[in-house]
Amino acid sequence: MEWSLIKVNGKQSIYNLNRKDLFEWAKAKSISSFYALKIWENLYRKKITSFPEMSDLKLDIINILDQSFYFNHLELVEVQESSDDTVKFLLKLEDESLIESVLMDHKFGKSVCVTTQIGCNIGCNFCASGLKPKMRDLEVYEIISQILRVQDYLDKKTKEKITHVVVMGIGEPFDNYDNVMKFLSIINDDRAFAIGSRHITVSTSGLSPKILDFAKEDIRANLALSLHAPNNKLRSQLMRINNVYPIESIFAALKEYIQITNKRVTFEYIMIKDFNDSLKEAKELVDLIEPIKKFAYVNLIPYNPVFETGYERSSESSMNSFFDFLSKHKIRCVMRREHGSHIDAACGQLRSRYIK
Ligand code: SF4
Repeated sequence: MEWSLIKVNGKQSIYNLNRKDLFEWAKAKSISSFYALKIWENLYRKKITSFPEMSDLKLDIINILDQSFYFNHLELVEVQESSDDTVKFLLKLEDESLIESVLMDHKFGKSVCVTTQIGCNIGCNFCASGLKPKMRDLEVYEIISQILRVQDYLDKKTKEKITHVVVMGIGEPFDNYDNVMKFLSIINDDRAFAIGSRHITVSTSGLSPKILDFAKEDIRANLALSLHAPNNKLRSQLMRINNVYPIESIFAALKEYIQITNKRVTFEYIMIKDFNDSLKEAKELVDLIEPIKKFAYVNLIPYNPVFETGYERSSESSMNSFFDFLSKHKIRCVMRREHGSHIDAACGQLRSRYIK
């Protein structure tokens, strides 16, 4: 039997709908918005996972729901807990594909990093996920289920709530744009997870046209750009996508993004030994960012070595000099704290151990 990602026995996962979809479906079935809201809250407030258990619904509504939708299954294959409270989840989807989600502990709360694609075609050659080609995009329900699964883990452990979401796991979110936007609408929904847009960050490798689309979305989530090099020569060596959307095209899109949203952009910069970590690159980075300096924030990230890539982490002194140079030139930057360095914390590393 061929596996259908959207429909199982003619039904789709209830988690594939955002509130607007659910209300439209309910209207078409002559279910009032009063009951549609109850269904929504049963799903995301009460976290009920079967329709018959939704005791505040009439039986005929439960029957219609049962005929139209099902609850998809997400199997927990492995959980890795780090001493710094980072937890990495390896999850199996219904078609047996493996994905990862990461829960991170911060002073400001609990944040979850979600996966949006199985594999990734962007081809960053410093990344474990980039070593495996994209098999497919994740559906909305498969992204939302990661949040539900991690919240379930927290409910059982500490009862803390997820406060932040970063769309930075395996995959390029803007290459799965519509599903990711729908996912954002669910986590941002005040009757669902109610995670404020300022607590949501989407990270892109720089698909310029989608940066402009993102600027026009109702949800004003934060944007992060994986820059990693201050010029096209170096960046193209690291990220094949730079041959399609070079730095000039990305920065033109970012300037427009800033004009529309008035929001800051975070630049992610992985520090790789003897590659992008000298003062020459620091100066180039300062010059590149100068025109949008007021809206820029640089995250310097110690590289988490991936065995297959051959890259090494910058030395402590190179990272400090780089950081000092940026700070001296009034570029706001931070040296990011590592998460889970003794577990397989680099994106895709846990998954890649299972896929040979
Ligand atoms: S870093 Fe992100 S965009 Fe690049 S290959 Fe890895 S998963 Fe894809």
